[in-house]
Amino acid sequence: MEKKSKIISAIITAVISGVISEIYTTFKPISLLINFLQEPVILKMWGFILIIIALPIFVIIVMYAIAHADPDYFKYTSDNFYDINWHWNWYENSIRNLIALCPKCHYQMTQEVKGYYCDKCGKKIANQYNPSNAEMESIVERMIHQRVRIKEYI
Ligand SMILES: [Zn+2]
Repeated sequence: MEKKSKIISAIITAVISGVISEIYTTFKPISLLINFLQEPVILKMWGFILIIIALPIFVIIVMYAIAHADPDYFKYTSDNFYDINWHWNWYENSIRNLIALCPKCHYQMTQEVKGYYCDKCGKKIANQYNPSNAEMESIVERMIHQRVRIKEYI
């Protein structure tokens, strides 16, 4: 049993070394890169000190950029609720500039007492649950936040 496993490991080692050797000889750029990486580096002390100082600063900058990158949902800036196309911007985690666009012609709709009206094509959309427009926008904002929370946004 032990003899079999030694034979198998010898075969695997031979195959792997053969494959690596073949890759090394077949792909010239890889062999050139390996040769380049094996070259000694002669560096002045000031260059070495500069690298020692710059490397942690670079790592801190990269970590800061990753930590402060915009979340994915910042790309989620439009959706359709209650037959109206809503567009908005994100400022930090808040929704800003929420506007209602006509689903037919994408013109910004005018708020009426209990709904929205398109001055361009004449489309009229009444509020679904009959709230005021401020309430309607509040409902839409909460629906947007819900979709973000449950990750059901585009
Ligand atoms: Zn319209």
